[in-house]
Order: sequence, then structure tokens, then C-alpha cells
Amino acid sequence: MRFALDGAKRIEAIPKGRGQCPVCCGDVLAKCGARRIWHWAHRVKASCDQWWENETAWHRNWKMNFPAEWQEVIVKGSSGEIHIADVRTPSGLSIEFQHSPITDIEQETREEFYNDLILVVDGAHESHGYESFMENIDFWRERGVGAGQIGFGFNPMLANITKRWNSSRRPVLIDFGGSVLWSISVMRDGWAKYALEISKSDFVTCLTQHTDPTVHLSPWK
Ligand SMILES: [Zn+2]
Repeated sequence: MRFALDGAKRIEAIPKGRGQCPVCCGDVLAKCGARRIWHWAHRVKASCDQWWENETAWHRNWKMNFPAEWQEVIVKGSSGEIHIADVRTPSGLSIEFQHSPITDIEQETREEFYNDLILVVDGAHESHGYESFMENIDFWRERGVGAGQIGFGFNPMLANITKRWNSSRRPVLIDFGGSVLWSISVMRDGWAKYALEISKSDFVTCLTQHTDPTVHLSPWK
């Protein structure tokens, strides 16, 4: 976590810092080592937000593209369940940055909980992930999908990373570590999909200027 609570105030980790977890109200201690990014960790291992991943530099760098008040926003579900959205815009669109694979069940529950959700998936740590993704894109089978965007046909079952996120019903974008994201959620026909390239800076600009980037990224019904 980047933010803990000190009373009602959100505070960042500083050496020897202490605070409260905004989800479970448990004590958290600042972890300010040289190896990992400075963050907060529970003093006693807690069954806190089960969806929360250990924050990596990748998570933190992504979140830092957005205003601080949009980062790590507490979202309370109708059943009283609480989760921290990595980023949540004032209009209620959540953006989750997902480093590790999750189960289909968790994915489904998460999509239901956040409803309006975009997933940005870390594809850079998978060996040959980018190569196998690119190999399966049919650059000949293209189609304009609006606003000058071109989608390229691909079979989502062929590369591990697209197969893993194939059942998602929300826009999924893969970050392979370059300057662009690949959207993998636009339906073509039957099982096939269109992959679309979007620059990371355009993606961030869209969100921070309150224009909906999902217009071009949403699964086509
Ligand atoms: Zn907690």
C-alpha cells in the first residue's frame, strides 16, 4: 500500500512510520528498505483485502500517473465487503493493475464487485510472452474499430496470456513493458478477437481528461 491512515489523513511510508490500514483498521508499519518500493505492511498478518497483491514498482509506477486522490480508493460493496481499487476515477471507473495471474472465479467476482472496470495486466515478466502474443496476431486480418483505431485478428487460445484473460467480460489491456498497451477484449466473430494497440500516454490522458477510453476497448457484443 502506498497510503495508510493517521486518523482521517492519508500518509505515505517514511522510515519508522506507523499507521492504520484503511480496510481492516489494523496497525501497519512502514517498510522503507532499499530493495522494494517504500510501502505499508500489516504488523500482524491480517486477512485483509484478499485481492490485494504485494505492490511492485510496476504497480506504483502505474498508479503515479493518476492524481493521488484517485489512487488506492476504498470501495464498499452492497454486502459491506471492502476492497481497495488501485485507481478509481471520480465517475466510478476502477482500474486494476494485475501483476500475477488470478483464478477465473476471483476474476468474475472482481468484475461483479467493481462493475465498471478496466484491467491492466503485466505481461512483461512472462518469458516469451510478447513473442508468443505477436506470433498469433494476424496483421492481415485488420478492421477499423472506430476513431481511426485498427484491430488485428487473433485467436485468444493460442498464447498463454490471452488464453488466461479470455473469459474476462471487462476490457483487458496487456503491458509488455514498452510504450504501448495491447487491448485484447474486442470480439471479432465466434471465438476470435481483435487486438488493438493504444499508447500508454493516450490511455492515461483519456482517463485523466474524463473521456472514456473503453469506447475503443470494450468487448463487442
Ligand atoms: Zn488491512
